[in-house]
Amino acid sequence: MIENREAFRDALLQWFAVCGKDYPWRRTRDGYAVLVSEVMLQQTQLATVLGKSYYTRFLASFPNVAALAVAADEPLLKAWEGLGYYRRARMLRETARALIAKHGGVFPRDTLELLDLPGIGPYTANALRAFAFDLPGAVVDGNVTRVLARLMNFCEPVDTSAAQRQIAQWAELLEEKQHPRAYNSALMELGQTICRPGSPDCANCPVAQFCQASTPSRLPLKRLKTVITAVDEHALWLRDAAGRLLLHCEDGRRRTGMWKLPTRAAADIAHLPVVAEQHYSITRYRVHLLVHAGSADSFALALGEVWLDPAALDPLPMPPAFRKILIKLLEKSANQM
Ligand code: SF4
Repeated sequence: MIENREAFRDALLQWFAVCGKDYPWRRTRDGYAVLVSEVMLQQTQLATVLGKSYYTRFLASFPNVAALAVAADEPLLKAWEGLGYYRRARMLRETARALIAKHGGVFPRDTLELLDLPGIGPYTANALRAFAFDLPGAVVDGNVTRVLARLMNFCEPVDTSAAQRQIAQWAELLEEKQHPRAYNSALMELGQTICRPGSPDCANCPVAQFCQASTPSRLPLKRLKTVITAVDEHALWLRDAAGRLLLHCEDGRRRTGMWKLPTRAAADIAHLPVVAEQHYSITRYRVHLLVHAGSADSFALALGEVWLDPAALDPLPMPPAFRKILIKLLEKSANQM
């Protein structure tokens, strides 16, 4: 453990006061807005959330707990389009509903009461306490895990329960309890900008003098490596005599309520000409999406498939890969007319 913790905290806070970034969620003290940012950032890269203003657009559509609690599926998923892991949007709505039912829409500050809300685990509870209310609570995400593993020269895999307990214990011991909001933001930002994965910028690190890492670029160690599997997905481009498009509304576990082109088994449609291709990633899969043109009367409609006017597509929530390919194909058809 770092001997002079006070000096460590001071060095980190001084650096953050000068170099801290001005993210939109750092300007608010509203528990709801903090929760939205935390849920978005849990499985989506910061650059993605910032890049297309997902956060500000979501808050513009659903500005408070009451608005989110009554949101219908379609606008909710549309506002989440592009962020992936769509169950998060529905869970956020569950949190809003429970918050209204149990606390009149006002976020409790007590950790146990926060944990009692659906969708709020230890990480989110601490993040809410720190970032919304400036209350103590060590916020340990992937960035903080990496920083702590390097600071302590932790040479065990970090993806085990025992290692996570150890990291959490260090996080609590190091925590600055007078300024939890600034301290937790600073530690996260150190991981994002200086103590980066692979190539830490130790020469410019504000806490280098406290760091015990011997070969920081090799840390943290991981026990399990995610294996990426390549798969092909075969979709159909079908238009009827009225120019309508066949689309499918998903009813699965992962993307319920999302619209996409209808898919079929490769054996059924792989022989048809490919009119567009797109690659995208989802969880541990790298998907090669192939769109085949077919004739409308050759296919029976499967469950969830409907003919839609292309003009009706815009408000429908849709995975970005399908949105891109649809725009491309519709433009191509318009140019050929
Ligand atoms: S000195 Fe290097 S490895 Fe240690 S905390 Fe700073 S950036 Fe990370």
